Amino acid sequence: MIKAKKSLGQNFLVDRRVARRIVDAVSPQPRDLIIEIGPGRGALTGLLADRAGLLVAVEIDSRLAGELRDKVTGERVTIIEADALKIDWAELIERAAVALQRPGNPDESTPRARVVANLPYYISTPIIERLIEARRSIMDMTLMLQSEVVDRITSEPGGRQYGYLSVYVQLYCEARKLFEVKPSAFRPAPKVRSAVVRLAVRDRLPIEAADEAEFLRVVRVAFAQRRKTISNNLKAAASSLRFACPIEAALERAGIAPTRRAETLSLAEFDALYDALCVMRDA
Ligand code: SAM
Repeated sequence: MIKAKKSLGQNFLVDRRVARRIVDAVSPQPRDLIIEIGPGRGALTGLLADRAGLLVAVEIDSRLAGELRDKVTGERVTIIEADALKIDWAELIERAAVALQRPGNPDESTPRARVVANLPYYISTPIIERLIEARRSIMDMTLMLQSEVVDRITSEPGGRQYGYLSVYVQLYCEARKLFEVKPSAFRPAPKVRSAVVRLAVRDRLPIEAADEAEFLRVVRVAFAQRRKTISNNLKAAASSLRFACPIEAALERAGIAPTRRAETLSLAEFDALYDALCVMRDA
């Protein structure tokens, strides 16, 4: 039996009912390209492979990748030994999607991938960022994460957990918490609770920011110190944001009281604020 490496976040799912519940929530279809990140000992892999059109699993640990190649076989399964943080996801998905297209059907649109992962918790946020960067190739993601991270991702304005991560993920995806999973479902049991979240990539963004990266910089700065008002956070970072207009005037133009805190602002209000900053800068 391969020994779990703590440094790679290896907490293996051993509860078969939970594994089936995750795969049922994904509901893989015969035309689906499923990408699994960190398959480990294959708790989800075989169940996914049985129902998917093609399954590509990316595992960093060569011992586990080797074991899995013997365990989950067939033409419709590929196990890749690689670091999920370094992979070019758009390119990998494109290649796999072409392999899934039926011969003689060149007009068929290339399928977007469906990602499934029980992620190592210490790198879950950077992996989500990498996947969101490749979102044009992805349809949805069903992810097991630390429960607290799922709460942050799905939180609404005014919620205690609402912050930059909520705005960032909800800008690109519709996020829905599916269910919680107890530590006893894993070996070794993690110290934290887990939950499964579904991120469905949006076809259209809910806002029309002139520059998405700059919009997100404004959001990040607005949340810089949670106890401070939005006005104070923005003023403190005014030079790095390169908006030469008075912050209070921009807030007024956006209809946002300067005494409010970022955690109370909806995506639409952040959009109005960013728009006001841009209009006043360009005036
Ligand atoms: N999916 C399996 C399960 O549910 O039992 C394993 C989950 S375990 C929490 C996380 C898995 O991700 C481990 O197999 C680990 O080796 C793998 N992993 C860790 N870092 C990785 C990385 N950067 N790229 C790809 N896989 C990684």
